[in-house]
Amino acid sequence: METLDPSALGIEMPHPDHEQHLCFLRNVGQLTKNLEGYKKLVKDPKFVCTMCGRAAASEKNVCVGEAL
Ligand SMILES: [Zn+2]
Ligand SMILES: [Zn+2]
Repeated sequence: METLDPSALGIEMPHPDHEQHLCFLRNVGQLTKNLEGYKKLVKDPKFVCTMCGRAAASEKNVCVGEAL
């Protein structure tokens, strides 16, 4: 997936690596722009984000992950 530059978008990052997190990706429109890439991140989920409730295969893609 293409890497986004959050500062160029004027988005303040709440914590490191937030540009990898599903909350951020959805907020910047990746859900609709790159649905196939997004689907790979949420396929076969193992972790749920305790901040927004999204689920991801990797803990790297949620803010505060809790194992499912
Ligand atoms: Zn989240
Ligand atoms: Zn985050």
